[in-house]
Amino acid sequence: MGRKTTYGGLDLFRIIAAFLVVAIHTSPLGSLSPEGDFFLTRILARVAVPFFFLVTGQFLLGGIFQPDKRLSPGRQNEKRRPQSEEREHFNAIKRYLFKIAGLYGISILLYLPVGIYAGHYQNLGPLDLLRLLLFDGTFYHLWYFPACMLGVLLVWLLSRKLSLKAVTGIAAGLYAIGLLGDSYYGLTARVPVVSGIYEGFFHLSSYTRNGLFFAPLFLVMGIWMNRTRARRRPLVLGTALLLSLALMTVEGFTLRHFQLQRHDSMYLFLVPCMYFLYRLLLCWKEKPRPGLRILSTWIYILHPAMIVVIRGGAGVLGLEDFLVDNSLVHYVAVSLASLAAALFVTWFWTLVSKKGACGGRFPHWAQSPLPTGRAWIELDRKALSENVRALKAALPESCKLMPALKANAYGHGAMLMARELSELGIHDFCVASVSEGVALRKAGIWGNILILGYTHPKDFCLLRRYRLTQTVIDSAYASQLNRYGKKLEVHIGIDTGMHRLGISCENIDELRRIYRMKHLKINGLFTHLCASDGTSCKEKDFTEEQARAFYRTVEQLQEEGLPCQGLHLLASYGIRNYPQYAGDYARVGIALYGVFSTREDATTTDTLPLRPVLSLKARIATVKELSPGESAGYGLAFTARRPTKLAVLSIGYADGLPRALSCGKGQVLINGHRAPIIGRICMDQTLVDVTDIPFLCPGGEAVLIGSSGSEEITAYDLAEACGTITNEILSRLGERLGRVLY
Ligand SMILES: *Cc1c(COP(=O)(O)O)cnc(C)c1O
Repeated sequence: MGRKTTYGGLDLFRIIAAFLVVAIHTSPLGSLSPEGDFFLTRILARVAVPFFFLVTGQFLLGGIFQPDKRLSPGRQNEKRRPQSEEREHFNAIKRYLFKIAGLYGISILLYLPVGIYAGHYQNLGPLDLLRLLLFDGTFYHLWYFPACMLGVLLVWLLSRKLSLKAVTGIAAGLYAIGLLGDSYYGLTARVPVVSGIYEGFFHLSSYTRNGLFFAPLFLVMGIWMNRTRARRRPLVLGTALLLSLALMTVEGFTLRHFQLQRHDSMYLFLVPCMYFLYRLLLCWKEKPRPGLRILSTWIYILHPAMIVVIRGGAGVLGLEDFLVDNSLVHYVAVSLASLAAALFVTWFWTLVSKKGACGGRFPHWAQSPLPTGRAWIELDRKALSENVRALKAALPESCKLMPALKANAYGHGAMLMARELSELGIHDFCVASVSEGVALRKAGIWGNILILGYTHPKDFCLLRRYRLTQTVIDSAYASQLNRYGKKLEVHIGIDTGMHRLGISCENIDELRRIYRMKHLKINGLFTHLCASDGTSCKEKDFTEEQARAFYRTVEQLQEEGLPCQGLHLLASYGIRNYPQYAGDYARVGIALYGVFSTREDATTTDTLPLRPVLSLKARIATVKELSPGESAGYGLAFTARRPTKLAVLSIGYADGLPRALSCGKGQVLINGHRAPIIGRICMDQTLVDVTDIPFLCPGGEAVLIGSSGSEEITAYDLAEACGTITNEILSRLGERLGRVLY
């Protein structure tokens, strides 16, 4: 799906992490400086494996806990998720476990000969077998796979009964136990009973660095990463990382000095190190590279085999002095060989799966379709932040923006927008429906979310479960909400003349009655101005009367001692034309996305400098030649009058391109030239006349909204050609489009 932010930084670091693991097993600085090597392989490189656990935690387990942090763990019944969702998580985890088990199985077979040759499997009792398979791994680096499975299973099982905080506590406790059996074992060994228990345990698992004591904490940290959407502050994070790393270095060398380490995988300061490193990597704006995910896995699996190969090869060729004894050269050789082997395996796999790089059965878990592969939306992050700044500047300091993310954020992609806006420090949002609110919660948005429209009483449980605020849309509805019998957070809609939703501002009795309702927690009051875009005297008078009526009602309630916080009246046009009425929030929609409803509104605004956030693009699927007289498309609606070159674009009315733009009413831009739409727009394809456009190639881009060269097509152009407003054009842009941020 195109809605995810780019996690390309994580993909790149996978490769770095893989080579750090290779370093752990080859000691690149071993022949040069023992201290340097200790630092590199026993301290620095220790970030590699936890990093992989964090990634798994974030992407596999990120959604298994309730998004509401405030619900107490005691209230189990209402915390139950819908079954379908639990099943979805269960299936995803099952698939993942099978995948890891598969990789583990392949690796076991791969290393069986080497293990036998090295005598690893002699005199194996049943307990040893269990130890090898479940904890140690059947070859030295393979412990990672059972640890991953065990950790994931453990966290998932705990998540079914406990809150995230409780599970975090448990994971931290397990890590502490692990520490005392790893780097700090020298201390533990002095306490006879405890060390006895540990020694007993070491029969079952040679180290505490395993799926029980090591993996859970980092998996859980990954889950936290999925919900903290704090601001990006690379400098602060980088400094914190360096500091943690320095502390971990001191810790490592101190422990080494006093010879306290039984093993050297677990440090106290590894935890903050991982936290800051991961946060920093999330700031790294790179495009996602799914290929690297598979590649890093295979580098991990294959590098010990390459150590054997390089050593064997060096022995045969008599190059041991150079290739083995020089630790740095050895490291480079093993790394290159592992990379080559991993590339080969990935290539071979796509070959045998016969479906090409994207469709293969095996790598599909690491692939998602290219968001810009067919038809897509590009979102301009800078334009968005500038619009936020301009809109804030137009409002008094005390008024916060409450962006309208309904209709998939006016087609822009609600999750992407919500995440981006969160990073700009905005944490109040409004949507039209409960499903939109739930979707935002599931995407990890934790701020306030107000549902502006009707929610069916059957779904009231979702309001609580996902901590969504409901609008009270009339008196009867207020009673219905109250009858639910458990506390619900609401904003009261007040009708000041639009006569759509809300309780009439004249009906103070009714409002009083609502204030007395036991189960409603009233967090806000609002009205909607229905003519704030108008310029006529009538419209202006009407709007001013609406605002006055709203504030009169509020005052009346306040005089009776009823608290009125969280007031809001303004939408986009309100911000532009009536900022003096700003309350505590402004429900900004269309203007946030950088356009107004009509072109005139935009041209008459010089006080609000806004830039469109969205461009709409599609790929050229193929290019064809038509002779005069030949027709194209449904109903033969186009007939060539001259030798015509036509391009087929992979976008249609099902993507939200209005069919009304057919037959020359609309245009697209290719290579900075205009090309008219010809024939009837199809559900998934559109034909354009490109006869006059040079340098055209299939796979190239066509711009439907946005600019190319010196030409531009705006949402206003489309709206005007279709006799509507930009709001409708944008909000209908389809689910099927990829969405990418730049
Ligand atoms: C959609 C909506 C908004 C946002 O309107 P814009 O004109 O796009 O800013 C604000 N308030 C309510 C009640 C809405 O339904």
